Amino acid sequence: MTAAADNVLIRLASLSKHYGTHTVLDGIDLEVCSGEVLAIIGPSGSGKSTLLRCINYLEPPDGGTITIGSANIDASRPATAAELSRLRRRIGMVFQSFNLFPHMSVLRNVSLAQERVLGRSRKDADERSMQLLKRVGLADKASQYPVRCSGGQQQRIAIARSLALDPEIMLFDEPTSALDPELGLEVLAVMRELAESGMTMIVVTHEMGFAENVSDNVMIMADGHIVEKGPSKAIMRDPQQERTKRFLRAVH
Ligand code: ADP
Ligand code: MG
Repeated sequence: MTAAADNVLIRLASLSKHYGTHTVLDGIDLEVCSGEVLAIIGPSGSGKSTLLRCINYLEPPDGGTITIGSANIDASRPATAAELSRLRRRIGMVFQSFNLFPHMSVLRNVSLAQERVLGRSRKDADERSMQLLKRVGLADKASQYPVRCSGGQQQRIAIARSLALDPEIMLFDEPTSALDPELGLEVLAVMRELAESGMTMIVVTHEMGFAENVSDNVMIMADGHIVEKGPSKAIMRDPQQERTKRFLRAVH
């Protein structure tokens, strides 16, 4: 999980986003190394979701640059369709709500986009889907419909669906917030395994245990900017900023 400092995969420079006159991201500078797991924590409304959504252009940022590897996007001008598809190919995202297709089997939920986006044959896509369902512990659910699965299982399927497109980077936006604690744990276990396998991950989370024990670094956001960022244990046990101390007191 720990990555060499010179191995930067994601670089955000002065990334900004406004909704009308409201500044939601106020010039974010951030580097994430290949294989790093970064947890983002902070109060509601601080811009965490917007930051993730801007990184893969679900929301277009309105200033700054996003660099993934050697590909660079200047957010001060509209991105081209080619730039967007290259960017999105490299990034998977998992949301609080799993949004599986209810009328398709679990297997089909995982395999469909592989055919549509990657042009895989049905056979190859199904094989890859089964591998991933095994990885998240749900091979036995392949032929079921999502409604027969618990929330925790549905979120693990959503993770498998995202991994099926072979992303280099996974973004998670509060993936366990909609789940009972016990079901959240099985999702966190899958995320921990993914982290240990070397995936580069940015995880917005309320799970302070995950932030402290699984992620390499923790970043605190408030009011659209980074309050502080550093190695997980240092930030969680000995934060330097008053704003971080206040936030951690409130959630513990
Ligand atoms: P967080 O994920 O940290 O709770 P968000 O990124 O969802 O924060 O939101 C940051 C701020 O941006 C909030 O004040 C929110 O109301 C505002 N915001 C988010 N999305 C929109 C939108 N589509 N239109 C207008 N304001 C928005
Ligand atoms: Mg959010």
